[in-house]
Amino acid sequence: MSSVRHEGGEAFVAADAMQRLATATFEKAGCSTAEAERIATRLSGANLRGHDSHGVIRIPRYVQWIVEGKQLPDQTITLESENEVMAIVDGNFGFGQTVGEQAVDLGIKKAKNHGIAVVGLKNAGHLGRIGDWAERAAAAGLVSIHMVNVRGSLIVAPFGGIDRRGSTSPFCAGIPLPGETPIILDMATSTVAEGKALVALRGGKPLPEGSLVTGDGELTADPRPLYGDEEPGAYPDPNKGPGALTTFGLHKGSGLNFLMEMMAGALTGSGTAGALGEDTRRFCNGMLSIYMDPATFHADDYFAAEVKSYVEFVKSSRPTEAGGEVLVPGEKEQHMMAKRTKSGLPLSEETWGDIVEAARAVGHSEAEIEALLGAKP
Ligand code: NAD
Repeated sequence: MSSVRHEGGEAFVAADAMQRLATATFEKAGCSTAEAERIATRLSGANLRGHDSHGVIRIPRYVQWIVEGKQLPDQTITLESENEVMAIVDGNFGFGQTVGEQAVDLGIKKAKNHGIAVVGLKNAGHLGRIGDWAERAAAAGLVSIHMVNVRGSLIVAPFGGIDRRGSTSPFCAGIPLPGETPIILDMATSTVAEGKALVALRGGKPLPEGSLVTGDGELTADPRPLYGDEEPGAYPDPNKGPGALTTFGLHKGSGLNFLMEMMAGALTGSGTAGALGEDTRRFCNGMLSIYMDPATFHADDYFAAEVKSYVEFVKSSRPTEAGGEVLVPGEKEQHMMAKRTKSGLPLSEETWGDIVEAARAVGHSEAEIEALLGAKP
């Protein structure tokens, strides 16, 4: 089977071919092979799980950020403060896929030694799909909670407001289940993640009504108020539009979005999304993570048994739609991964074109791109 298939206005790219192309693109853009592979695996992994917003659609933007010096290749976290059960680390504007992994591994190590740990990461490049970090902690047998903000990204309006005051600030938690797939709740606190608006703008899945507010205060599903008028040849910039994304769940989601700024922005020292009377702050992710070892909380397998039993209880609820299924957090992503491992990653032709163009822009020839894909793009 060819690794790229064009069907029904979409390109379907096999995950391994996409990883080869992405790795080669980031290597040429200035990353070490190890880092390029890390970024490529995580971005393709997001698409495999159905989170196209945090997947390979980001390749052109990440490459652009290297060129502009916004996100730096091959950085290492530095310790700002530390004791047995906590640390504050600086990501030094390195790729989130690298400095995020380092910060999470530090938290895992501390929690394995002491039963619990809190690690604050400041000044990280884009941390991508936050579920990656909860999955990493769950693979080590740990429960984890991750609270994230996006400093310098003013794209979300608070409940009842029009003007941008915050970011999409995700909340994520992971519950390990020995021998089974962990339970992963991973969600933006905006109605939709910015990348989902980008996917819709690029001809992909439409947004739910009320995902955005226009500059005049009207709720809408149209992604354009976020980006404004497209400039020919320029990549869509969510900072340029007159409107904003909305927070999810009315005032309650807005409250959770606010809390992410307190935890991931203020408490880590990374800084909140913005402040009155200041110019735009430098873009970064802040993340406050809490790691807990269930083995420290209960000597026997009480936790795992109780979790499994509750999952069954929840899933036994009668579905509202005939033939429907009640899902627990993370289950949708698992279903999607099984499907897309077979079908390939579906991308709008526009997104696929942008990705191939990014490979060309960093210096790959048509022949190299064909060889990486094992097919004509
Ligand atoms: P989403 O709305 O698709 O899913 C949110 C959660 O709901 C998931 O845990 C999912 O398993 C669960 N879910 C989905 N459908 C369900 C159903 N039918 N029944 C029960 N549970 C269901 O996710 P999102 O809010 O669009 O977030 C997308 C991604 O964006 C996340 O991976 C997030 O980490 C990422 N993100 C990252 C940043 C960043 O700055 N790095 C910012 C915002 C969002």
